[in-house]
Amino acid sequence: MKEENELRQDLVDAYLTVDKRGLMNQASGNVSCRFRDGMLISPSGADAENISADRVVYVDGDGNYSGDIKPSSEWRMHLSIYKKQESANAVVHTHSDYCVALACHNLPLPGFHYMVGLFGNTHVPCVPYATFGTQELGDGAANALTHQAVCLLGNHGMIARGANFKVAIDHAERLEIICKHYVLSRTLGEPDYLTDEQWDEFFGRAKKVAYSSFI
Ligand SMILES: [Zn+2]
Repeated sequence: MKEENELRQDLVDAYLTVDKRGLMNQASGNVSCRFRDGMLISPSGADAENISADRVVYVDGDGNYSGDIKPSSEWRMHLSIYKKQESANAVVHTHSDYCVALACHNLPLPGFHYMVGLFGNTHVPCVPYATFGTQELGDGAANALTHQAVCLLGNHGMIARGANFKVAIDHAERLEIICKHYVLSRTLGEPDYLTDEQWDEFFGRAKKVAYSSFI
């Protein structure tokens, strides 16, 4: 098990990676990792210039934190995911462009491309809108992440879970890319969708080549 100091620095590095990959959109995202019975999370008001290991906030399993620095306003959503999803050790939330484009139509991402399956299911659902920072939003996101590693958040953005930061960040970026492909594809009309047989074959093959390790 990593020491707290090491995890705090991992979180800073993860935040900066999400920013570098162009997913942060004016510091609207936040990142966290499981720690003790709760989590470490980026602070409220974080951006790529001011985030540092000593500004990362520990929130315990009951939602308590101490000190002057507040956790991200979305801490309930992050904590709900760790409580509900045992395999989640890192969570990334963003308002990346194409995820927001779909989420603002409350559209799920359908199975129009086999890469959608890398999140663990044949589609990515969109959780109905709830006010930011609420337990309602947290419950919706935590439940949605039962069947796949990512979901869209209605009129808001997206959230991803992973076994570690690398997996969660890659999922967040992959979802943005695939949503972009879907929006582009929709400009030509309704795309073709994979059939149930094609999905069965995909998941059969994905298991063999250990694609499941992504999830
Ligand atoms: Zn947000």
